[in-house]
Amino acid sequence: MQNIARLNQQVLRAMERVVLGGKNPDFVNMLDMKIIEFLGCIWHHCKLCCPDSIKEDDLEERVEIFGAFGYETLYIWEHEMADMENVIKKVEKFIAEGSSI
Ligand SMILES: [Zn+2]
Repeated sequence: MQNIARLNQQVLRAMERVVLGGKNPDFVNMLDMKIIEFLGCIWHHCKLCCPDSIKEDDLEERVEIFGAFGYETLYIWEHEMADMENVIKKVEKFIAEGSSI
């Protein structure tokens, strides 16, 4: 149990300073090489919630950058949070099987 606590502390410390290709991902699991990012719909110009937004985000570029460092990335949009059961399933599937975006 003490080893797990120590490992969690190391992972959390690592999360604070993870910068990959100049990008700072939200949540990084360095042991399984997986990244989860939560995306605000307005901030990241969600095409579903903000169809009139003409600004493009750099989401595909981020996946490519993180992938170049060996990380898989999962995006969870703000609007998806309305169905937490689905978000949990999505995260569990990502942790078990991996996938991108
Ligand atoms: Zn949205």
